[in-house]
Amino acid sequence: MKKVLLAINFIIISSQLSAQKIINRDPQIEAIVNQVSSDSLKAYIDKLVSFGTRSTLSTTTDNKQGIGAARRWVLSKFQEFARQSDGRMTAYIDTWTLQPDGKRVDKTIEIGNVMATLKGTDPTDNRIFIVSGHIDSRVTDVMNREADAPGANDDGSGTVAVIELARVMAKSKFPATIVFVTVSGEEQGLLGANHLAEKAVAESWNIEGVLNNDIMGSNHSNETNIIDNTRLRVFSEGLPAFEMDKKVGAIRQYGVENDGKARQLARYVKEVGERYVDNLEVVMIYRNDRFLRGGDHTPFVNRGFAAVRLSEMNENFLRQHQDLRVEKGIEIGDHARYMDFEYLRKNTAINAATLANLAKSPSMPEDVILDVRGLGNSTSLRWKASKTGKVKGYYVLMRETAMPYWQKKFFTTDVKITLPYSKDNYFFAVQAVSEDGNESLPVLPRVGLRNAGE
Ligand SMILES: [Zn+2]
Repeated sequence: MKKVLLAINFIIISSQLSAQKIINRDPQIEAIVNQVSSDSLKAYIDKLVSFGTRSTLSTTTDNKQGIGAARRWVLSKFQEFARQSDGRMTAYIDTWTLQPDGKRVDKTIEIGNVMATLKGTDPTDNRIFIVSGHIDSRVTDVMNREADAPGANDDGSGTVAVIELARVMAKSKFPATIVFVTVSGEEQGLLGANHLAEKAVAESWNIEGVLNNDIMGSNHSNETNIIDNTRLRVFSEGLPAFEMDKKVGAIRQYGVENDGKARQLARYVKEVGERYVDNLEVVMIYRNDRFLRGGDHTPFVNRGFAAVRLSEMNENFLRQHQDLRVEKGIEIGDHARYMDFEYLRKNTAINAATLANLAKSPSMPEDVILDVRGLGNSTSLRWKASKTGKVKGYYVLMRETAMPYWQKKFFTTDVKITLPYSKDNYFFAVQAVSEDGNESLPVLPRVGLRNAGE
């Protein structure tokens, strides 16, 4: 009897040990993450709320009220941070005119996305990473351009996260470019994000990741009354919206329906975000967005970019899209006093860690090929070296096909590897890693059937 107990004990201890992960933090990224401040986030929210309404249809000419004043204030913050960037950060409002559309735009209006671009330091590296939130707010009637619409959490939270990220990252040098954007017109139909995604396609931007932050500063649900500030959701699509017809055959054949670009980015947010932010779990949601709601990542997803949505774990629908009022003794409306700024700090920090690690990483390895020319119980992969960045080597990631996260990492300085694990039983991907330990996004291999020159 005693022996059996001992054996069980041993199993428990060894499984705990095998579950331990090595946490290696890049000091530069840790310093950036540590600068994210709940006080600063709260001050920005209070300022945003002071504009009364940020309805996209509201006044653009008043200096104190409405969307125009709010956009100009965000621009002034970006310009303030840009002055500390040695000329690498530039900011402007990308404006255009909207005509009435018979839907959610009833008059000709000027609309604008407030953009800050932190130019990468490596002229050969054209990668762009985007972080977004939507500056516009609304009440119950989406056409109401007059009533107070504080929009503290929806999406003041995402907007101030973007401002704070620009503040804490402006002084740092990254090889790749980061674009900080607060878009307009989300509530009128994702107008600002659509505009930006269209521009990116027209100008051939090499966007490798989009983090859309929308509703992420409140810790409690309505009706079920759950209070939790230790979990953040990341939404990602499964099957790709873009060119699905071309991809479906290979997806089905190789069983990679859980490994699209957005899903890879979501896994990366979880792994890297949790590496730097304590007491916060990133929960992967296997869908593009919530029911009955849309988000600014979707115009990017629909054009083939890796884009995800970050949102709080438990939403309070009494604080979204509501006229300010009291019903049965309960205050309804999106007020700042119902937010949790420590939670918002952690959620913003997840963005900082992810963006900094991506922008410091080498570019992704290219032409990653899984060799399936022969039957066998091992796996051979080969790839082409990253084009840019200080590459220390490559991680070959491996997981069982039924597992949601990568389970093992094999490090190599070579551009090929043979592993004693069956290609039939595991998924693999390859990511480049820099001298400071910053990983690129993982690349899923193509299947190499021919002999040479794939
Ligand atoms: Zn929103």
